[in-house]
Amino acid sequence: MPAPRPRSGHRGRLGDAAVGAGHRHRRRGRRGAGHGGGAAAARRGRRRAGAGRRPARGRHVPDAVQERVARAGRHRRRRRAPPQVPPHPGVRPSSSCCVPLPARCRSWIILVCSELHREVPAGRRRMRMRSPGRDLREFSFDEEAPGQEVRAVERRALLETLASKLPPGAISFSSKLKSISEQGRAGTLLELEDGRQILAKIVVGCDGVNSPIARWMGFSEPRYVGHMAFRGLAEYADGQPFEPKVNYIYGRGVRAGFVPVSATKVYWFICFNRQDPGPKITDPTALKTEALELVRGWPSDLLAVMRSTPEGAVVRTPLVDRWLWPGLAPAASRGGRVVLAGDAWHPMTPNLGQGACCALEDAIVLARRLADAGADGAQAAAAMRAYEAERWARVFPLTARAGLVGALVQWENAAVCAARDGVVIPRLVRLGPFLEHTNFECDLLEPAPESP
Ligand SMILES: Cc1cc2nc3c(=O)[nH]c(=O)nc-3n(C[C@H](O)[C@H](O)[C@H](O)COP(=O)(O)OP(=O)(O)OC[C@H]3O[C@@H](n4cnc5c(N)ncnc54)[C@H](O)[C@@H]3O)c2cc1C
Repeated sequence: MPAPRPRSGHRGRLGDAAVGAGHRHRRRGRRGAGHGGGAAAARRGRRRAGAGRRPARGRHVPDAVQERVARAGRHRRRRRAPPQVPPHPGVRPSSSCCVPLPARCRSWIILVCSELHREVPAGRRRMRMRSPGRDLREFSFDEEAPGQEVRAVERRALLETLASKLPPGAISFSSKLKSISEQGRAGTLLELEDGRQILAKIVVGCDGVNSPIARWMGFSEPRYVGHMAFRGLAEYADGQPFEPKVNYIYGRGVRAGFVPVSATKVYWFICFNRQDPGPKITDPTALKTEALELVRGWPSDLLAVMRSTPEGAVVRTPLVDRWLWPGLAPAASRGGRVVLAGDAWHPMTPNLGQGACCALEDAIVLARRLADAGADGAQAAAAMRAYEAERWARVFPLTARAGLVGALVQWENAAVCAARDGVVIPRLVRLGPFLEHTNFECDLLEPAPESP
């Protein structure tokens, strides 16, 4: 599949760069002016958008705050090593919850698309669905939905690619947020666990499912849906032996899957029912043993993948979501100063494989909206409200659908599972509608101009 050229306009789908996203290879004509696109708009956005700039010291900033910010600024000016991403996807980098310049996001994403196209083999062309005892259905993507595919991207590859496009020091890792408070017209003050303080004009809270910023904005805790997931990344130093195929295996109240993500790595997962998440297990051997126990006697290729997973590369996660009911959920932004994105705003269960994809979509839409807004609070507030309206229409139905799909596929009832295996999967499931939700038209992605 041809990779988009980083320096030219590309009308792409976010599926190109997203974890487990499906997309169609469909290209349209170049987008004309408007929608704030184009290099000029990106330049304008960078000049105007307040986000990502250092706090303007001396303007509307109380003395005490100025002093704290000056201290934080001195701290931050120290030269830092280039961003390091942890060695495997089970360990997440603790990143700053302040995002860099919105206008730059555009150039990141197109470069990331380009690099991940190169890194990830494009031929994920088949899907195989089984019960633990027999094959239910296998088909090629080209037969069922030409141009549609599922692309698995290792989290680490995505993070490293995103990080590599930023100037050294732009990301401050291990910057754990301790508290957040409004400082009137001066902005929002972020206090970090290590004592640093940052006065931000705009804060984008993309701090994940347990977001302290979402809590501060009045969001409820995400709801545990009664299922948990194991995830692992098997490693084959001499090359993994699998075909480019997405494998699903459906049991009663337990399902599993695996898919190659690179020449040497294979991602696998298990979803299983459990009344409550129980205590957190930190012992890596115990985690792997529990996962293997859940699928004892299941197909040998799945078990082989799991056994090829290094200790410590298995994680167990309770699955949660939060439905953003209109009129009940708090607004996604506050005062044109703080706005939520990704799981922090709309945690969803992974049954449609769309959480990370939606976080990336959020980033593009928010970047465009903020880049088009002026620096004053009213315009930023309007831009954030427009972002919320645009994104709500996508993320609310996806959150609901993911929750309902999860409830269906986790059924334990023997009769229901027999109907699923005998009728639904072999005769009714069609790939096109099955993956339609993954197609998001993200419009032309244009790189920001080179920094002077
Ligand atoms: C089992 C499972 C399978 C999944 N499969 C898929 C899939 O196939 N496709 C897909 O698209 N999505 C999938 N997802 C969902 C996906 O992982 C998330 O939706 C995605 O990671 C959300 O991205 P995010 O940037 O919003 O949050 P995160 O990826 O959680 O990132 C949040 C960041 O904020 C940081 N942070 C947290 N607290 C603080 C703090 N106090 N201060 C500073 N920083 C903080 C964290 O360290 C982290 O770096 C899956 C999820 C699960 C659980």
